[in-house]
Amino acid sequence: MPYKATIESTLRNFQYKYIHRIIATNKYLFKCKLSNSNLCDFCSENIETIEHLFWECKHTQPIWNQLTSFLEQQQLNVKQQLLYQKQQLLQQQQQQQQQQQPSQQAALMAQLRHGGNAPPQMNSDYNQNQYPNY
Ligand SMILES: [Zn+2]
Repeated sequence: MPYKATIESTLRNFQYKYIHRIIATNKYLFKCKLSNSNLCDFCSENIETIEHLFWECKHTQPIWNQLTSFLEQQQLNVKQQLLYQKQQLLQQQQQQQQQQQPSQQAALMAQLRHGGNAPPQMNSDYNQNQYPNY
């Protein structure tokens, strides 16, 4: 998965760090005395952990909300498309049934003419050359 998601080496590097939880957040940098504060750079209200930075922060939440609504909209579009295709299929089936009805009546008439025992219909695809005479 990590090497299939993107070919961009910067993003791969970021993904590797994110998966292995080695992103230098302020919590870590403050512990190493490389940052003046362990608070979030965006909101300055909470300790900047990976969970806060990528999920909990009030500046990150709108991105997730937009993604959620986008995906819900996409799902709705898929539902509408499936419903449309189902209606098209039903219409096609109804048209086919209406076209088949006259031929069914003819078959029924032929069956009646032969005293109720209609001769077996030969399948035109079945030909005698399939079994050659030796
Ligand atoms: Zn924050």
